[in-house]
Amino acid sequence: MTTNVIETSGLSKRYGSTWALRECTLAIPAGHVAALVGPNGAGKTTLLNLAVGMLTPTAGTIGVLGGRPAGSPAALDGIAFVAQDTPMYKNLSAADMLHLTANLNRRFDQDYAQARLAELGISLKRKAGRLSGGQQAQLALTLALARRPRLLVLDEPVAMLDPVARHDFMALVMTAMAADGVSVVLSSHVLAELERVADYLVLLSRGRVQLAGEVDDLLASHLVLTGPAAEVGRYAERLRVVHARRGEAQAHLLVRAGADDPVPPGWEAHPVGLEELTLAYLREPGAAALPGPARGRALPLETGEPSEVTQ
Ligand code: ATP
Repeated sequence: MTTNVIETSGLSKRYGSTWALRECTLAIPAGHVAALVGPNGAGKTTLLNLAVGMLTPTAGTIGVLGGRPAGSPAALDGIAFVAQDTPMYKNLSAADMLHLTANLNRRFDQDYAQARLAELGISLKRKAGRLSGGQQAQLALTLALARRPRLLVLDEPVAMLDPVARHDFMALVMTAMAADGVSVVLSSHVLAELERVADYLVLLSRGRVQLAGEVDDLLASHLVLTGPAAEVGRYAERLRVVHARRGEAQAHLLVRAGADDPVPPGWEAHPVGLEELTLAYLREPGAAALPGPARGRALPLETGEPSEVTQ
């Protein structure tokens, strides 16, 4: 049976009168790089903080690493967390940071940490405050990985990094994933980056799970249909449209459909990429993506006389 690295049921979190998360039910299986995506304020940081035990739920439950209560010693032992603003003690050297982290944790692979920093060209003598933003992020990631976690949680790890530093950071994450089988859950707004690394997607919208699943399954169950804009209304009712872009002559519809589904005559079907899919859902926070014919949203466009949609 697959272990879920994060599993929630009816999970809700309220800050004062603001619901940051509402009835989130979700299961992220082990063995993935799972991307947590959503607009500002969607609840990503809240969900990650609940997963690492820095917050407690207002309602519902959250378990990690096969159902261990989030925040319990057993859970914390297997999780490493790199927050967006992971504190660096600026006057401490990289060697001091290694020493400190080793002392604070039951398990710490000093050889791994030193080898990684040598590879990255980060001198152990260098003060953390003198490292570039990219190097600080790499140091924080190295310290996290040296704890040999089973789950690595990263909250917007590459937000402040330039493209090269971002690439190098994600390369280290992917190496850890391949070499040690670490599962990764990361939040990010950098969709192009996620397209490269993520094989599981969780999309949050207004504190709720809008879309979740393996990237391959999500891509296989959506298509882009391109056809005459004037005909959109004819098919709007029967196509499960997530998002529509309509120009003067042509319309592009991102729909829930598989490669075997019939395409309206005169229309072309194209496969969809992860970035395009994610953007479509981000633009339509009300679009549900659960399987089943009734879940699609009809286009808010004029409807013509429906005709048979056949191949
Ligand atoms: P971003 O992409 O901007 O980082 P996010 O998806 O991580 O956003 P959260 O930071 O989880 O979203 O915030 C979710 C909601 O909860 C927002 O409305 C936010 O204003 C609110 N919120 C978050 N932290 C607090 C807090 N400590 N006190 C009050 N409200 C909070």
